Amino acid sequence: MTSKGLVIFLDSGDTLVDEASQEFDDRGIVTRAELYPGAAEALIALHREGFTVCMVVDGEAESFKNVYTAHGLYDVPDGWVISEIVGEQKPHKSMFLTAFEKLGLTEKDKRRVVMVGNNLKKDIAGANRLGLTSVWMDWSPRYFHTYEEADWEPDYIIRSPSELLPLMLTLEEKL
Ligand SMILES: [Mg+2]
Repeated sequence: MTSKGLVIFLDSGDTLVDEASQEFDDRGIVTRAELYPGAAEALIALHREGFTVCMVVDGEAESFKNVYTAHGLYDVPDGWVISEIVGEQKPHKSMFLTAFEKLGLTEKDKRRVVMVGNNLKKDIAGANRLGLTSVWMDWSPRYFHTYEEADWEPDYIIRSPSELLPLMLTLEEKL
C-alpha cells in the first residue's frame, strides 16, 4: 500500500448513505440504511490507495455502528468523530479539531486536509472557516443548494461517489 499525504474527512448522510432509506427504532437510532451507488467501493478504494480517511459525522454513535457494520465498512475508516460523543455538531470547529487530535494532526497539516460532504452549511462552511479544502457532494436534493453565505462556497464539487477517488488523486498530486 502506498501512503498518501492527503487526509480525507468524510461526511456520511447524503454523502455516502442515502438518508431517504434510513429506518429508525423508537429511540431515533438508525437501524438500517442504503448506501449511494458506488459509495462502498469509493470508501474501500480510498483506504486501499493509502489515503487517511476519518468520518466526521453528526448523529448517534449507535446509528453509524448499525449502518456501517451491516455494509461491512465500519472498520474501513481510520477513525470516527461523531457529534454525539463530541457534544457539538458541524459546522462547530470542535468536530474538525477532534479529528485533527485523533489523527495526530496539527495546524501545519491543514493544507493537506480535505472535507467532503453534502451540506453547505455544515460540511463546507465548517471546513472553509478552518482553512481546510472543501468538497461538496452535490447529489441529494435535500438541504441547501445555494451559497447563502460567502463561506458556503466549496473549493470543489462532485456529483457522485465515483468522482471521489479521481478527485482525491488529483488533489494528492497538487500537495
Ligand atoms: Mg450529510
